[in-house]
Amino acid sequence: MADVEAACAVAGRKPSEVSVVAVSKTVDVPQVQAAIAAGWNHFAESRPQELVRKTDALPAVRFDMIGNLQTNKINHVLNRATLIHSVSSLDLADAINKRVLTRNTNATLTALQPVLVEVNISGEQSKSGFTPAELCQTAQQLIDLKGLDWQGLMTMAPAHNPDAAKRTFEGLRELRDKLQVQLGHELPVLSCGMSDDFKIAIAQGSTLIRLGRIVFDPNYAKGVTR
Ligand SMILES: *Cc1c(COP(=O)(O)O)cnc(C)c1O
Repeated sequence: MADVEAACAVAGRKPSEVSVVAVSKTVDVPQVQAAIAAGWNHFAESRPQELVRKTDALPAVRFDMIGNLQTNKINHVLNRATLIHSVSSLDLADAINKRVLTRNTNATLTALQPVLVEVNISGEQSKSGFTPAELCQTAQQLIDLKGLDWQGLMTMAPAHNPDAAKRTFEGLRELRDKLQVQLGHELPVLSCGMSDDFKIAIAQGSTLIRLGRIVFDPNYAKGVTR
């Protein structure tokens, strides 16, 4: 995407360091098919039922899970979500881990589930995820969950506030750097940046941006928000 390449150039980063996932939560299967025809190949959903519906319709396409996940919906998401971005508590991580280990003993499939841990960097009440302090305390327990392939961190920034977005993304990267030292384990993926703030996220080291409206909402490109 041209805007992503331009933001990488400004940040002195290679476009190959930043992946883009198209968030298809507001559209139906035909729009996803149109996006595939236009060159998009990596999608994400925020609700388990929608993930099931879209992956049933498009089984060869990569979908990630980026939304709130309840433990009773884990079975819908396993074997469908390539990456779960939204592991927001130790209980949830534990529950996913148990399902993966059970699946692996019962089946020929023995893959680990790739996950990101969601962090509430900005401290807003409305946001889910670990606080940075909680995550530092819990990190060793998370890394010990053998069914999970913990690849990095995810966050969401406050809306309509570029300075707060910058601090949030910077905070995510600094927390990741600290955890890598603490754990002696690489956490290469930083999932942050959405339609309104992806340029700021790229400047702060994001490796995976999640674009919804800019991809799927024709009015967004005209600067009209719904
Ligand atoms: C909806 C959503 C996005 C995409 O947001 P846009 O502002 O439409 O780009 C990204 N991440 C998460 C977790 C979302 O729920």
